[in-house]
Amino acid sequence: MSDSTDDRAPSENGAHENGAPRNGAQRKKSEQTPLTTADGAPIADNQNALTAGERGPVLMQDVQLQEQIQRFNRERIPERVVHANGSGAYGTFTVTNDITEYTRASIFSEVGRETEMFARFSTVAGERGAADAERDPRGFALKFYTDEGNWDLVGNNTPIFFVRDPYKFQMFIHSQKRHPQTHLRDDEMQWDFWSLCPESLHQVTWLFGDRGRPRTYRHMNGYGSHTYSLVNADGERTWVKFHLKTDQGIENLMDDAAAELIAEDRESHQRDLFYTIEDGDYPTWTMYIQVMSHEEAEHFEWNPFDLTKVWPHGDFPLIEVGKMELNRNPDNYFHEVEQAAFNPSSLVPGIGASPDKMLQGRLMSYQDTHLYRIGANYRDLKVNRPKAEVNNYMRDGQFGGMSEEGTGHPNYFPNSVDGAPRPQPEYKEPAWDIGDVEVDRFNSREGHDDYTQAGALFRLMDEGEKDRLTTRIAGKLDHCRSEIVERQLAQFYKADDDYGRRVSEKLERDADEDAQLAERDLGGDGAVERAAATP
Ligand code: NDP
Repeated sequence: MSDSTDDRAPSENGAHENGAPRNGAQRKKSEQTPLTTADGAPIADNQNALTAGERGPVLMQDVQLQEQIQRFNRERIPERVVHANGSGAYGTFTVTNDITEYTRASIFSEVGRETEMFARFSTVAGERGAADAERDPRGFALKFYTDEGNWDLVGNNTPIFFVRDPYKFQMFIHSQKRHPQTHLRDDEMQWDFWSLCPESLHQVTWLFGDRGRPRTYRHMNGYGSHTYSLVNADGERTWVKFHLKTDQGIENLMDDAAAELIAEDRESHQRDLFYTIEDGDYPTWTMYIQVMSHEEAEHFEWNPFDLTKVWPHGDFPLIEVGKMELNRNPDNYFHEVEQAAFNPSSLVPGIGASPDKMLQGRLMSYQDTHLYRIGANYRDLKVNRPKAEVNNYMRDGQFGGMSEEGTGHPNYFPNSVDGAPRPQPEYKEPAWDIGDVEVDRFNSREGHDDYTQAGALFRLMDEGEKDRLTTRIAGKLDHCRSEIVERQLAQFYKADDDYGRRVSEKLERDADEDAQLAERDLGGDGAVERAAATP
């Protein structure tokens, strides 16, 4: 069944009234609140600066004015390099099916168990304030406040990604952001990169398909995307992928409707999420897992740790796990959404990492980002603070002391102080056997088939979506140099002859002649990169 698409006005569920964007937060207080300085001293007048005479000048001794100016100048923190523009809400996760045969994670310990959580959705490339309804992957980051620590599942609305090696990530993002001179988003930069990285074809096909522009954050699926591991109470490890399917149904915005919407409302996703929750119409998603044993991983036709690939549902069926409901808006956007900090490294006993190279890169990079953007004590903020008890020997840092956790004596280990935090060996993860391995920079393109799954996705689309996909792609490629167009056409033809022909024809090229491009070597031996390097 094809996804629901919409070329009508984007109003639904009270998110917009009478066609106009809905505005204004609830007003709770009717009593007067005394205005004070940051130190709590009463302020008598905040409308008139202190001046020498009616016409000025303003006096240095107007310290209340100075305080307001200085505090205002410091209202912004660095925005996220990616996923800067987002929306968030609190909710509850409830287990509906027993998966304890795979994991000892306390969040999944029994059917009916509820865990508080927070979700942040986002677009990727746009800066803070960018239009929500842009064509872009969506971030789908979840924080579960479990009784054995915070578990963050930092996913996207797609099960795959553009690159499989973390060394390529930063360059990929540069190609998607702004040109360093023109300061414009630049089709040629984007397609130059993609045409040189055939591993991105699967995700490119997704992005330019209808799901590349969800109608709202509520109408899209979420995917953990990476392969993680689960460890059960007997210490047995299984590889796992997480899926969250929207119970609202998949709905996407067609390009014309999106253009109209953006002209009227740049915050359409934020408005929809906030007011839907405010109205008590709580969105829900059903969580599923796919599991794969070590033996299956050894014989699986794809590298199960390659982020550019899915595990076919036919081979690894979805197993239901539970229900996530978002039911409470944050009180303060900046405190709770802008400063929400998600880490793929926030793992709990029973849920672990995998050899996925991109995951390995993210295990470090997210934490590093928060330390830079928010500071060493970012976990003391309400939205990030674990509900589980926190005891360790990490100390001090900027804004230390926002919580009482992790303070006091002793601040070293080992120690012989009664009651001081001690490791808990019963939580030891089983060892990983990685065999007799070589350390090297292995070619992340060699021996990879980047076309079959991209072709499968293309063939899964109905006629209308195939047409829209190839029209959107041709519209962008039309702005690129012919060598880029040819490299990219070669990829489409390799994935599916019909895919290549449709793009070629829409570019008003000779599709029969272009079909020869499928013979081009875009292999993993560096041929593509060399072709690019040779003038
Ligand atoms: P299946 O037919 O078993 O699964 C197809 C999946 O694709 C379903 O999860 C479905 O999601 C989703 N889907 C349906 N239509 C579209 C569309 N127009 N655009 C994007 N996704 C769509 O096939 P396989 O598991 O063998 O996968 C085939 C292809 O489907 C893959 O190459 C991949 O691109 C895509 N896919 C696979 C997923 C996986 O985890 N195996 C997940 C999502 C997509 P839903 O049921 O929610 O509509």
